[in-house]
Amino acid sequence: MSDFEKLKKIMKKRLKKSRYLHTLGVVEMAVKLAKVHHIDEKNAALAALLHDYGKNLGKNDMLLAIKKYNIPVDEVSAKSMSLLHGEVGAELVCEDLGICDPDVLNAIRYHTYGRVGMSALEKLIYISDAIEPGRDYPGVKELRALANESLDKALKVAVSDSISFVVAKGHSLHLNTITLWNDIVING
Ligand code: FE
Ligand code: FE
Repeated sequence: MSDFEKLKKIMKKRLKKSRYLHTLGVVEMAVKLAKVHHIDEKNAALAALLHDYGKNLGKNDMLLAIKKYNIPVDEVSAKSMSLLHGEVGAELVCEDLGICDPDVLNAIRYHTYGRVGMSALEKLIYISDAIEPGRDYPGVKELRALANESLDKALKVAVSDSISFVVAKGHSLHLNTITLWNDIVING
């Protein structure tokens, strides 16, 4: 069994079925887009497979991990701890699996709320998470087509959609996402 197949087994055990299927969808999309945009396919597949590694943790385990790894908790994340599943997941992937490539870890770390200055791989995972084949919402088809054309154009729409969605639900926005949006608008 290849290392990747072993990691798939680990994720299958770790995640509930629907999230595991979502994860396979993200892998499929990330590899496809990596080919189109000349991004390292191996890193794309790896980051996609592991992006929700921190997602199955309960509140208590999240708090323990946050303490252990000194993850800063802002006002928004304090209210919805699951926002930090990327930060926690990145730390755990390195510690549990020995996969510590900084770009792969950052793609995991920032897949939920993004950040200014995302690498190509970080953008790829953020977008693939939003448009994997299992996603179904108004505009997702158009966003898939846009992602084939340009990761930056797709990122702009994906961030805008995500902000609209969060605001419509009456939730607070993570500062990274607001800052990322402003940076995209101001600096293109
Ligand atoms: Fe996630
Ligand atoms: Fe996800």
